[in-house]
Amino acid sequence: MPTPTAFFQGEFIPMENAKIGIMTHAFNYGTAVFEGIRGNWNHSQEQLYLFRPREHIERLRQSAKIMRMQLNYSDDELVKITHDLALKNGYTEDIYIRPMVYKSSEAVGVRMHDLEDDFLLFVTPFGAYLDTEIGARCMTSSWRRIDDTMIPARAKVNGLYVNNAMAKTEAQLNGFDEAIMLNVDGHISEGSGENIVMIKGGTIITPPPQDNILEGITLETVLSVAQKDLNLPIVRRSIDRSELYIAEEVLMTGTAAHVTPVTEVDRVPVGSGKPGPISKKLQDTYFQIVTGELADYQDWVDPIYPK
Ligand code: PMP
Repeated sequence: MPTPTAFFQGEFIPMENAKIGIMTHAFNYGTAVFEGIRGNWNHSQEQLYLFRPREHIERLRQSAKIMRMQLNYSDDELVKITHDLALKNGYTEDIYIRPMVYKSSEAVGVRMHDLEDDFLLFVTPFGAYLDTEIGARCMTSSWRRIDDTMIPARAKVNGLYVNNAMAKTEAQLNGFDEAIMLNVDGHISEGSGENIVMIKGGTIITPPPQDNILEGITLETVLSVAQKDLNLPIVRRSIDRSELYIAEEVLMTGTAAHVTPVTEVDRVPVGSGKPGPISKKLQDTYFQIVTGELADYQDWVDPIYPK
């Protein structure tokens, strides 16, 4: 197995040497933006496929722009660095890649300006996050999703994730798998690390960006499959909590969670309480796409190892 490698301060170095100092601004104040990219291992092809790395890099750049942070690499360079790092690490299992732009100055004082920014990238093996077969039992969190007027919700800001972490821990300590967060208006926003989709009368319904969701790449993938392959209508509108109780199906989408059916919300079974047929179909197609099995979707995957 190759030595675990990170990209840090402009070069590929052994992971064990990639360390930041305790005064680093990003560590003290959460002043960083990040991404999560999955590499999915295809056992029969002995190939590792990164899923939509370019879209993740584009979102990283948008997060950095919103937070007035400097990213001194082009998208092409970042996509290549990501690919090269995955190759150097040589994993033959599912992985998770974490790009980050962070305030690297060792300085005290709350602000975004007059500080240096740097970029880093690391990779770690990463199996299932939620049980995609059985589905997830969810609770509505007592923690509200932050509003765009507090911390930009469409940016993946590191410090923002304290909000999500509180919700996830509350859910798990109460015996649930995942939290569903309402926004400050009381509408469904999203999971602690997933977007939410509801199926009602055969229509796919999901909250609009204005409900303070992170505009998910997996969500966009699933909506596109639902529309093109399953011919299902898509509606983007605010969703009430009680609508989830009577939906035919609910599912969560995210880089970590893939496509996970939600089988229960606040102890109310969703539909039959088992993963529904549309969720299963979407999940099935999604897994084929991310493991490079579908010819029509090759543009969305980046095979790491030479064929
Ligand atoms: N919402 C939040 C809060 C997330 O952290 C994530 C994971 N990045 C998502 C939604 C899903 O986004 P994506 O499908 O792009 O991973």
